[in-house]
Amino acid sequence: MKLLNLFRAVSFWGFVLIAGGYLLSLGCNMNIGPCNDCDPPLLPVFVPNKMAASFFAQNASLEIEVAYEEGAKPYVGNLALNPSGTKTDPNNWDIIEDNLKEIFKNKTVANQLTIPKTESEMKAVPAQNKSSWTTDKILAFAEAHTRYKQVSSGFIFLVFLKGYFEGKNNILGVSLGSTSVVAIFKDVVEASGQFRGPRSLELFQKTVELSTVVHELGHALGLVNNGIPMTTAHQDSNNGAHCTNTECVMYWAIESNMSEMVKFANKRIDSDARILFQSECLSDAQNFNP
Ligand SMILES: [Zn+2]
Ligand SMILES: [Zn+2]
Repeated sequence: MKLLNLFRAVSFWGFVLIAGGYLLSLGCNMNIGPCNDCDPPLLPVFVPNKMAASFFAQNASLEIEVAYEEGAKPYVGNLALNPSGTKTDPNNWDIIEDNLKEIFKNKTVANQLTIPKTESEMKAVPAQNKSSWTTDKILAFAEAHTRYKQVSSGFIFLVFLKGYFEGKNNILGVSLGSTSVVAIFKDVVEASGQFRGPRSLELFQKTVELSTVVHELGHALGLVNNGIPMTTAHQDSNNGAHCTNTECVMYWAIESNMSEMVKFANKRIDSDARILFQSECLSDAQNFNP
């Protein structure tokens, strides 16, 4: 088991290398992202500014759609932390909403968020029996299971999968450039539980999953310096679209260094912090008025 890189997701530049060629030939068969005019094709990864701007534009709305294959259901609902259930950890999806509201603070989109909070609002899909996923397989899965073949408003599709991204057992999630598709790899989330120390297994895994989702949503929306312009210099350019602030959910090491990820998850558990972004990333988003 590789300890390093457990939390690694594909950075924007990694994605360009991996999927750029694919997207060039993708054409408009894949109309599941914001797409006002699907000819010419989306090619979103090559025009990240345009994509990010659509999320932050005046009067924008944003819907998060979720589908999961059997065995990869995301955590939903409050988690009881004691037998009597008087102490609970909040629903991840409430925390995800809080993070998006903070990102979109003072913009109308903050009040135009549609986020599933319960199992019944998420789509269950039969087991896919794939040990390894490629970008095109993920996009095909997304296209098969989205409710929206074409939308003109903001939309991000989160898919929770078993198996690994390109066979790598260290990648927790990928944000597929500007396709609006984010994949979370449940087997890797669950494997992180072995490093929980004295923590409750479920609470630790739930927190790792939360951190992964927020990190990947950050990428999908244009952080760091990947569509959302920076207000201060805090891009860790050596590590792609990541943040130099070690406390921020967009810090690269959270997704690629086990000890940092464990530290991050434990800090969130101890502090009950609901906003996982730090001020630099929030400032970028809050000052972005395309
Ligand atoms: Zn990342
Ligand atoms: Zn940051």
